Amino acid sequence: MAYDVIVVGVGGMGSAACWQLAQRGQRVLGLERFDIPHTMGSSHGVSRIIRLPYYEDPAYVPLLLRAYELWDAAERATGETLLVTTGSIDGGPEDDELFQGALASARLHRLAHEVLTGTEVNERFPGYRLPAATRAVLQPRGGLIASERAVVAHVRAAQAAGAEIRAREQVLGWEANPSGEGVVVRTDKGRHEAARLVITAGAWMGELAAPLAGLAVAERQVLAWLQPLRPELFTTDRFPVFNLNVEEGRYYGFPVYEVPGFKFGRYHHRGETMAPDAMRRDIDAEDERLLRQFGERYFPDGSGATMALRACIFTNTPDEHFVIDHHPRHPQVVLASPCSGHGYKFCSVIGEILADLATGEGATRHDIGFLRLDRPALRVAAAA
Ligand SMILES: Cc1cc2nc3c(=O)[nH]c(=O)nc-3n(C[C@H](O)[C@H](O)[C@H](O)COP(=O)(O)OP(=O)(O)OC[C@H]3O[C@@H](n4cnc5c(N)ncnc54)[C@H](O)[C@@H]3O)c2cc1C
Repeated sequence: MAYDVIVVGVGGMGSAACWQLAQRGQRVLGLERFDIPHTMGSSHGVSRIIRLPYYEDPAYVPLLLRAYELWDAAERATGETLLVTTGSIDGGPEDDELFQGALASARLHRLAHEVLTGTEVNERFPGYRLPAATRAVLQPRGGLIASERAVVAHVRAAQAAGAEIRAREQVLGWEANPSGEGVVVRTDKGRHEAARLVITAGAWMGELAAPLAGLAVAERQVLAWLQPLRPELFTTDRFPVFNLNVEEGRYYGFPVYEVPGFKFGRYHHRGETMAPDAMRRDIDAEDERLLRQFGERYFPDGSGATMALRACIFTNTPDEHFVIDHHPRHPQVVLASPCSGHGYKFCSVIGEILADLATGEGATRHDIGFLRLDRPALRVAAAA
């Protein structure tokens, strides 16, 4: 066989997997239907939050600690700055799951942190204008990952380690070899054979992996960048990234970085789900109104003229946790759907996990049992 491993989808996760596999001496082919990088999937829009307190589930924290080490390794391998430390704020009402979950995970994993009231956040970081009753966990290692640049960095590192990466080649389907060994991948340009297959197709997972059809659902998101009226308050050294639960919903945001604007978005923006190729990519007045309303209320000094508005895709599972597992019928195939709006920060460690699963005995030392495909929440959803 020409390749040890074919990776389908060279976005956030696939690019990291290509690097990890190539570093292990595997003969790797990465196939990407669009460009490298591109703005049609889930990883564009310049930056993504990385944070250690994890209200979604403290089981992610050990993975995050390793993710930090591997982001550092990628920076050293490429000479690129990929992670910018700003500190992170996770806040909301005192009894809210976001604040309580972040606090519980920080305590459980003994993460350095402070608990602040809304007033204290506003005093310490004057770009914020939170209600006094807000409670927030401030964690010093939080920050942002330059997500588009990281895709390029991982691809460059993978190529330097011997991986073959082909953009503008769309995978149309794949079959396990009748012998049970290896796979054949059909694309719009030909066919390729490999011993193992890793599918990291983002919003298109359900189209390439039947067990995920209906379980990995694409959702339209919109990101806003507004010109700060007081730019000195929205710099990476004075403005921590945030996750906030407020009256209007759950929002996340960033200091000014590359695009000249304070950046933020609303989780599950307008609840628009669709087939990924049918996603509406234009932005309308309601998208802008919804985001500006939040900015003007909680970050008035950040909410000047609109600088940019961009659409992007979430891929949600029913319980909003990732799926990382072998294909239930084909152990030589590994599936990864790590999104639900919070996956990017893990790219570096998921690349390592996917390389573990796609080589040798197919086992990983990382504890990813909670991300398996046959967990009860997904079985119930699949049966419904
Ligand atoms: C607006 C927004 C904000 C977010 N904010 C955060 C955040 O702050 N922090 C965080 O950690 N996470 C965040 N996320 C989630 C994070 O960005 C995703 O978890 C991550 O980008 C998913 O990476 P991926 O590799 O699965 O998808 P992608 O990067 O989209 O990669 C999938 C790739 O597969 C390719 N592909 C699909 N089908 C085929 C085919 N048939 N043949 C060949 N190639 C194919 C696609 O073109 C694409 O390049 C956010 C997501 C969005 C949309």
